[in-house]
Amino acid sequence: MDFTLPQVITDKLAELDAFIEVEIKPLEAANMQFFDHRREYARTNWEDDGRPSDAWRALIEEMERRADAAGHLRYCLPRAAGGQDAGNLMNAAIREHLAAKGLGLHNDLQDESSVVGNFPIVPAILKYGTPEQQAYVEGIITGKRHLSFALTEPNHGSDATWLETRAVRDGDHWVINGMKRWNSQVGRAEANLVFARTSGKDGEARGITAFIVPTNAPGHTILYNHWTFNMPSDHAEVELKDVRVPDSAILHKEGDGLRIALMFIHENRIRQAAASAGAARYCIAQAVKYAKSRIIFGEPLAKRQAIQFPLAELHAEVELVRNYIFRTAWKMDRQDPATMSDEVSICNYKANNLVCRAADLAMQVHGGIGYSRAMPFEHIYRHHRRYKITEGSEEVQKRRIAQRLFGFGSHAE
Ligand SMILES: Cc1cc2nc3c(=O)[nH]c(=O)nc-3n(C[C@H](O)[C@H](O)[C@H](O)COP(=O)(O)OP(=O)(O)OC[C@H]3O[C@@H](n4cnc5c(N)ncnc54)[C@H](O)[C@@H]3O)c2cc1C
Repeated sequence: MDFTLPQVITDKLAELDAFIEVEIKPLEAANMQFFDHRREYARTNWEDDGRPSDAWRALIEEMERRADAAGHLRYCLPRAAGGQDAGNLMNAAIREHLAAKGLGLHNDLQDESSVVGNFPIVPAILKYGTPEQQAYVEGIITGKRHLSFALTEPNHGSDATWLETRAVRDGDHWVINGMKRWNSQVGRAEANLVFARTSGKDGEARGITAFIVPTNAPGHTILYNHWTFNMPSDHAEVELKDVRVPDSAILHKEGDGLRIALMFIHENRIRQAAASAGAARYCIAQAVKYAKSRIIFGEPLAKRQAIQFPLAELHAEVELVRNYIFRTAWKMDRQDPATMSDEVSICNYKANNLVCRAADLAMQVHGGIGYSRAMPFEHIYRHHRRYKITEGSEEVQKRRIAQRLFGFGSHAE
C-alpha cells in the first residue's frame, strides 16, 4: 500500500497554485466587493428575485475563460469534451486542495464554479446523448448553452421515484405536465433536463424518462426563486403546462431516465465530500493560527486546553475523513462507482457534517469577529450546510449505507 498522492497529482496542485496566483488573485483583488463583507450584497440582484447580479456572473465567466485558456477548466472531463479524463482521485484531490485554500474566485461556493470545472451532467450527455444532444456539451462548459437539472418537485425530493410530473405520448411528440422545485440555474439555461414519469407506478425506478426541454418552450414557466440561507438564489420553482417536445428530446431511453440522475449524483457526491473536507481543514488551520496570536488574560488563547481539544478532535476527524475520501476516489477509478455507492455516501455525509462543525468552531474560537462578515466562516457554513440536504440528504446517505449493511435495497436506487 502506498498512501502518498501520486506525483502527477501533487504536480497538478502546484501548477494550479501558480496559475491562481498569477491569473486569478489579481482579478479577485480588483473586485473585492464580491469577496469581502459586501459579498452577498454585491453578488445579488435583489430587485430580480435575488438572482446573481450580471457583474458577478461576468466575473465568474472571466475566471472560467482564463482557466479554460490555461487548460485547467476541463481537466477532469472526458477527452471528448476537451478534458484529460483525470479520474476521481485527481478530481477529489483538486477539490480538497482548492477548498483548503479558503474562499476566493478560484473556487467559489455560490454556484460551485472553479478553475477546475465541475460539470457533473457532461459525462452523462457524452455517454447517453445523441450527436445532436452532445452539441450541448461545449455550451455547458462555456456557460453559453447551460442545461439545468429538474428532478425535485414540491411534493417529492428524497423520494424522487414518486415524482408527479407526467409525460404522455401524442404521436411522435410528448406532452409534459408538472411542477419542479429547486431547479438551480434554470434562469440562465437554454434547456432544462426534466424528469417525468412515462410509465410504471409511483415508487418504481423504471418508467421515469429524462427530457431535454428548451426553456423557451411554450408552457415552461419559471414562477419564482426560493430565497435561501446563502444568497444570491438561483433555485427556481418551475411550472410545466402542456409542454410539447419531440421524441428526440429524450436523453437516453424512454423509461430509463433515472440512470442519468444517478450518474449525475454519483459524479457529484464524492466531489462535494472532498470540497467539504478541504473547507474543514481550512477552518481548523485558521482557528489554530488565530488562537496562537490572540492574547487573552495575558497569554495566547492557544494555551487553553478548552481551545486545543475541540480543535484537536476536529483535526483528527479531518485526517480520517480526508484519507477515506481519497481511498474511495482511488477505488472509484478501479471499479464501477455504482457498486460502491455506500462508501461514497460515507464520504459525503461525514465530510458535509464535519465542515459545518469546523466552520462553527472556527467562529467560536475567533469570538465576535468570527461571527462578522469580515471572516469567511459564516459564508462557509451557509454554503456547506446545504450539502447536508442536496445530492441526497444526510439521512438519505445513511439510508444507502444501511441498505448495504443490512443487505436490502438495490444499488440502482
Ligand atoms: C440550494 C439547493 C439547490 C438544489 N438544486 C437542485 C437542482 O438543481 N435540481 C434538483 O432536481 N433538485 C435540487 N435541489 C433539491 C434537493 O435535491 C432536495 O432538496 C433534496 O433531495 C431533499 O428533498 P426535499 O427538500 O424534498 O426534502 P424531503 O425529501 O421532503 O426530506 C425532508 C427530510 O426528511 C428526511 N428524509 C427523507 N427520507 C428519509 C428517510 N427514508 N428516513 C429518514 N429521513 C428521511 C430528509 O433527509 C430531510 O431531512 C436543491 C436543493 C437546494 C436546497
